[in-house]
Amino acid sequence: MRKKVCLIHTGGTIGMARTKHGYAPQKGFIRSILSEMNELKSEEIPAFDLIEYDPLLDSSSIAVGEWIKIARDIREKYEEYDGFVILHGTDTMAYTASALSFMLEELAKPVILTGSQIPLCEVRNDGRDNLITALMIAGNYKVPEVCLFFGNELYRGNRATKVSSDELIAFDSPNYPPLAEAGVRIKLNEGAIREAGKALKLSEFQSHQIAVLKIFPGIQFEIFENILTSNLKGIVFEAFGAGNIPENKGTLNRILDKAEENGTVIVVCTQCLRGSALIGEYEASLSFAKAGAVSGYDMTVEAAVTKLYYLLSMNYAADKVKRLMSTDLRGEMSI
Ligand code: ASP
Repeated sequence: MRKKVCLIHTGGTIGMARTKHGYAPQKGFIRSILSEMNELKSEEIPAFDLIEYDPLLDSSSIAVGEWIKIARDIREKYEEYDGFVILHGTDTMAYTASALSFMLEELAKPVILTGSQIPLCEVRNDGRDNLITALMIAGNYKVPEVCLFFGNELYRGNRATKVSSDELIAFDSPNYPPLAEAGVRIKLNEGAIREAGKALKLSEFQSHQIAVLKIFPGIQFEIFENILTSNLKGIVFEAFGAGNIPENKGTLNRILDKAEENGTVIVVCTQCLRGSALIGEYEASLSFAKAGAVSGYDMTVEAAVTKLYYLLSMNYAADKVKRLMSTDLRGEMSI
């Protein structure tokens, strides 16, 4: 029997129309483009129902509220479909993929985010292949994970990151192998794929104050003192190399002490594309150790931020949030 996929269009370049102000989302436009693509009627492609969000968003405006909406729609329609494809702008696609991976526990069907760098309305575009292959994988392959498909590779969603603003290979999964490669054939990397869950469980996020702070030489930490209030529930440091940070004449310790006093969870990731942040590997991470910060290991910043939303929304005590931040929950980190 022909498989059935639920296709959710949230916005982004893939479905944009040419307007006199440049590319912009347009209500109903994707439905008319898809209806003109005869290849989508082929038996090889699963049947699909299209849900078009209103308003359609540039993904820079997608955050907690939209993540919840997508997750709820998936849960509501979960039994009706073999898989889900989410059309999404590329800019924050890796955040949404990570967020959904934490919200949707015990997933047993593929949820694949995809989009494109050139809209489907152009003759030369990358959206066509991304869409067709994502539909085929979502309908016919056993990948019970939240994934991101782009440029012929299927990545674990919470391992992916956007690496190019204008190349067609726009994403990478720097610390984890692709789950599948779409060459002449679609080849699954079986050993890298998680086992199917039993009963889908949705954990919705609440909105929390979280900050990301990228370290650079000469950073004056005193600038950030005012953001370190008790409302700030978590802070992700993008530290140098393996998790190192300059002390800058004691100013670092002042802000770390303040964060600790306020109960803000401090997570340390690396600003390198590949590899891990491990507090204690170098003396230059001692301040983090003293402040009770936790290592983010090889998590992407996208995964670290969305995991903070997830754990903070569970209302766990700070110690439990810290412990779980350093524990692999959805394949987002290798320790
Ligand atoms: N600005 C667009 C977005 O993220 C870019 C894209 O879709 O590729 O929505």
